[in-house]
Amino acid sequence: MDDAPLIDPFARPITYLRVSVTDRCDFRCVYCMAENMTFLPKAELLTHAELDRLCSAFIGLGVRKLRITGGEPLVRRDILTFFRSIARHLRTGALQELTLTTNGSQLTRFAAELAECGVRRVNVSLDTLDPARFAEITRWGRLDQVLDGIAAAQAAGLRIKINTVALKGVNEDELFDLVQWCAAGDMDLTFIEVMPMGDIGGEDRLGQYWPLSDVRARLAERFTLIELAESSGGPARYVRLQETGQKIGFITPLTHNFCESCNRVRVTCTGQLFMCLGQEDQADLRAPLRAHPGDDGPLEAAIRAAIARKPRGHDFDYSRRRIDGQMPRHMSHTGG
Ligand code: SAM
Ligand code: SF4
Repeated sequence: MDDAPLIDPFARPITYLRVSVTDRCDFRCVYCMAENMTFLPKAELLTHAELDRLCSAFIGLGVRKLRITGGEPLVRRDILTFFRSIARHLRTGALQELTLTTNGSQLTRFAAELAECGVRRVNVSLDTLDPARFAEITRWGRLDQVLDGIAAAQAAGLRIKINTVALKGVNEDELFDLVQWCAAGDMDLTFIEVMPMGDIGGEDRLGQYWPLSDVRARLAERFTLIELAESSGGPARYVRLQETGQKIGFITPLTHNFCESCNRVRVTCTGQLFMCLGQEDQADLRAPLRAHPGDDGPLEAAIRAAIARKPRGHDFDYSRRRIDGQMPRHMSHTGG
C-alpha cells in the first residue's frame, strides 16, 4: 500500500479533515437554513462504522487534525460512540487533535464524555448575548441552554472558542459586549463573514453582510490590535488585544488571503469529499466504502485521486454587490 502523505498539486500537505456527521440540526439559524428544511433520508448518511473507516483512512494518509461538524453534530444519535471509537487514534499519537464545532445546545449532556474521549477544545457558535435576539437568529434555539452548555464544557476542562457570524444591523451593537464577555470567560473569539451557502428561504444575504474589515476597524478604535503571524492553515487571521490579552480571529472566506496555505478538505455526511469549500468539484467516497466493506484500498485510491484535483482557490466574490460563486449546497451539508 502506498503510504506517502497527501500532498495536493500546489504542494500543500493535507493534514486537516472536517467531517459533517449529520445535515440535521435543532436550530434554524437564518443565515444557514430555511425554516422548512428537507433533510436526507438516513440511508444516505454514512453509518458510524463508515465514518470511522473514512476518518481512519485519512488519518492513515497523514491527517493530524479532525473536526466533527454538521448540521449539529451532537444531535446525531449515539454520536459519542463514534467519538469514543475514533479517539483511539489520539492515544496512538496518529491524530493530534480531535475537536468539534457545535451550537452548544447539547453540551450539558455531552461535555464530560467528550473530554474523557480526549477532546480538548470546542468551537461554539454564538452570535448574540441577548435572549430575544438569539431566538430570532436561531429561530428554534434558547440562549440559556447554550450558556449552560458552555459552562458545562468549561467545567469539564474544555477550552472554548466562540464563533460569531458578523451580521449587519443584527449584532453590530454587541461587538464590545461579546469581546468583553469572552475575555471574562477566558474564551477566544472569532468573527466569521456571512458566506453565500445554500438557499435560506428568502433571507437577504447581501443585507446580512458585515465586512470584517469594518469589525476590525471598530475594534481598533477601542483596543490596540497586535497582529499575530500564526496561521491555522485556514481562512482565519488573528490579532491580540493588548488591553485584554485576548486573541480575536477574523474568518474572511470571501477574500483569497488564505487559499495558498490551505491544508484542509471536507467530507459531507453522505461521504462526498469537497476539496474546496467554494468549489463544486467533489469525489464520492461512499461508493468505495460500501462496495468494498473489507478493503480500504479503493477508498484510499479515491481520496488520492481527489486530492490530486484540489483547486488553487475558490470563486466567491461579493465585490460587485452581487453574489458571484454562490454555492447551491448548505453549510450544514458540507460542514462549517
Ligand atoms: N451546528 C454547528 C454550529 O452552528 O456551530 C456546526 C455546523 S455550522 C454549519 C458551522 C459554522 O458555520 C457555525 O459557526 C455557523 O455560524 C457557520 N455558518 C453557517 N452558515 C453560514 C453562512 N452562510 N456564512 C457564514 N457562516 C455560516
Ligand atoms: Fe444549525 Fe449550526 Fe446551521 Fe445554526 S449554523 S442552523 S446551529 S448547523
